[in-house]
Amino acid sequence: MSTKRSALVIGSGFAGLSVASFLAKAGFKVTVLEKNAGPGGRARQLKADGFLFDMGPSFYWMPDVFERYFAQFGKKVSDYYELDRLDPSYRVYWEEGHTDLSADFETLKKTFDSIEPGSGEQLEKYLQEALVKYEVGMGRFVHKPGLSLTEFMNWETVSGALKLQLLTSISKHVAHHFTHPRLRQLMEFPVLFLGALPQDTPALYSLMNYADIKGGTWFPKGGMYAVVEAMYKLALELGVEFKFNETVSEFKIDKVAGSKRRGQISAVVSSSGVYSADAVISGADYHFTEQQLLPAAYRQYSEAYWKKRVMAPSCLMYYVGLNKKLKNPVHHSLFFDVSFATHGHEIYKEPKWPTEPQFYVSVSSAT
Ligand SMILES: Cc1cc2nc3c(=O)[nH]c(=O)nc-3n(C[C@H](O)[C@H](O)[C@H](O)COP(=O)(O)OP(=O)(O)OC[C@H]3O[C@@H](n4cnc5c(N)ncnc54)[C@H](O)[C@@H]3O)c2cc1C
Repeated sequence: MSTKRSALVIGSGFAGLSVASFLAKAGFKVTVLEKNAGPGGRARQLKADGFLFDMGPSFYWMPDVFERYFAQFGKKVSDYYELDRLDPSYRVYWEEGHTDLSADFETLKKTFDSIEPGSGEQLEKYLQEALVKYEVGMGRFVHKPGLSLTEFMNWETVSGALKLQLLTSISKHVAHHFTHPRLRQLMEFPVLFLGALPQDTPALYSLMNYADIKGGTWFPKGGMYAVVEAMYKLALELGVEFKFNETVSEFKIDKVAGSKRRGQISAVVSSSGVYSADAVISGADYHFTEQQLLPAAYRQYSEAYWKKRVMAPSCLMYYVGLNKKLKNPVHHSLFFDVSFATHGHEIYKEPKWPTEPQFYVSVSSAT
């Protein structure tokens, strides 16, 4: 009989794939239970009428993060997929005309100068500060395991945190460097990925401008799904077992003697059976796992608590296949041709379908 400790992972999105591989590397016998027919979660693929679509993510930023992930398994990104750097990184359409964001920094500075004289130099200064935030944010916070507060209790981290501008909003920070509304909008745009308004987001997130402009916008050959395939393949290589079309509906809990609220998951109930393991990790949404899978007695929060949380907004997606080729399409096009203030207000402050939605078009076949 195997003495290997066992782990069940719920979901095979990026989080589930990642945790499954790390657990397998740590010596666990890992089984992933996924409700869909294949891996990927929000990053899965749609095949329809001869067309292939990435269903979720389309912007590949921070290539260093992907490289770091595979390196922890003795692998490289290039062992699994090939990357192209996009140039322009993306195109922004205004009410009149458009701006291409060049991948070449000197060209980009000239573009900025053509919109607002002197702003190329400001961009350079802005990105020097953003680099510090990127290095402190990633090195001293994101890449820490987060198991204990003591990880953050050292002078380097505390002094680094002071440089992060947690108390200034990114919109104020951007306004300090740039005056022209177009430049302000360009610099505030990456924050929208976080699902929040620039005026409500700390200037720390100018690290995303660094990721965007200096790190670059990349695209894996074969589409974003190539990343899912790579992580899935790595997990299989490490011996992870996947069970698809398995919807988990409940955790069974064994009480810890003498405690009303503490327990241990003894079994996971899914659409086709009951599984048990030494450890269970959910890669499904936190709210769902807490409120649907955990029995009420073991939940940390009430439904009323969750109702007060501000969730990042969803978006309406169309997957469009054309029967003819577009002339010179750009991979990423952002349409900032309507008022962002009105759009932002209608989404975040008085939530309703925006009267004039801003939108984004990804033509991945252009690459
Ligand atoms: C439209 C869109 C565009 C995006 N664009 C970008 C982008 O350009 N760049 C970027 O970096 N990020 C982007 N993101 C964000 C990124 O896609 C997500 O952060 C990421 O895919 C989330 O991965 P995850 O593993 O945390 O969650 P998920 O992908 O949601 O994975 C959760 C998994 O759990 C499974 N599951 C849930 N409940 C159960 C259950 N009861 N039983 C069994 N399995 C279950 C789900 O089927 C799913 O496979 C985008 C997201 C969306 C939706």
